[in-house]
Amino acid sequence: AGYSVGIDVGVDYINGILTDLEGTIVLDQYCHLESNSPEITKDILIDMIHHFITHMPQSPYGLIGIGICVPGLIDKDQKIVFTPNSNWRDIDLKSSIQEKYNVPVFIENEANAGAYGEKVFGAAKNHDNIIYVSISTGIGIGVIINNHLYRGVSGFSGEMGHMTIDFNGPKCSCGNRGCWELYASEKALLKNLQTKEKKLSYQDIINLAHLNDIGTLNTLQNFGFYLGIGLTNILNTFNPQAVILRNSIIESHPMVLNSMRSEVSSRVYSHLGNSYELLPSSLGQNAPALGMSSIVIDHFLDMVTM
Ligand SMILES: [Zn+2]
Repeated sequence: AGYSVGIDVGVDYINGILTDLEGTIVLDQYCHLESNSPEITKDILIDMIHHFITHMPQSPYGLIGIGICVPGLIDKDQKIVFTPNSNWRDIDLKSSIQEKYNVPVFIENEANAGAYGEKVFGAAKNHDNIIYVSISTGIGIGVIINNHLYRGVSGFSGEMGHMTIDFNGPKCSCGNRGCWELYASEKALLKNLQTKEKKLSYQDIINLAHLNDIGTLNTLQNFGFYLGIGLTNILNTFNPQAVILRNSIIESHPMVLNSMRSEVSSRVYSHLGNSYELLPSSLGQNAPALGMSSIVIDHFLDMVTM
């Protein structure tokens, strides 16, 4: 009947999909970003939307809306307030995209979008209360309570990448010290494995882990340890049914998950027992884009059935 666009704008990539109203991906496009500039990123974003619209199959409703997520603070009016790892400030992407395409546009925080994607289509389909942890350049979490996204009073909930796990730790870009993401993010992992002579990509790390490289395996074990420290705080705070972890290494190598699980079970409040699951994302890289597409679809279905 119609098609929805979901786009995840990361720190160094844009991942976009076109789905039908059941969330089946009809077209997709991935693009690596060379620059953090909001203007350049917006041009690439518009090219991508244009590509989807021109290649979209014929349908009665055509394009029903566009959903875009970014890793940062989004206020109640869906304005981008700040993205700590790409340094965007006060950007009203919603109005400009809406004016251009004349369809409903939704802007959301990337971890919220991923949480929604996993809730509707993925690992959390059968759960009502979940926490989604996005581990990329930074760490963000999406909170779903009784099947609804919890955004906080101003829209800024879920910044748990900046919870303090070492009060004497190194300085963080947020102004605090010893934040969780300084130890357990993709950026932290790369920093621990790279040297001046050795520049590694994320795929190199996955390959080295599969080759049982001792140095890489030890670093992954530590990665799991630091993740476990923060996850213990999350489980003790929210008592969710499941925590869904979105990260390519966790999804492709069991070591991090095992190390994380053993750290959590030795630390977490004992009364939680076996009430929770720690699961890798089942949608992987597409989780946030699928979440955005389904936010658009939900809005459309609410309008047509009203
Ligand atoms: Zn911080």
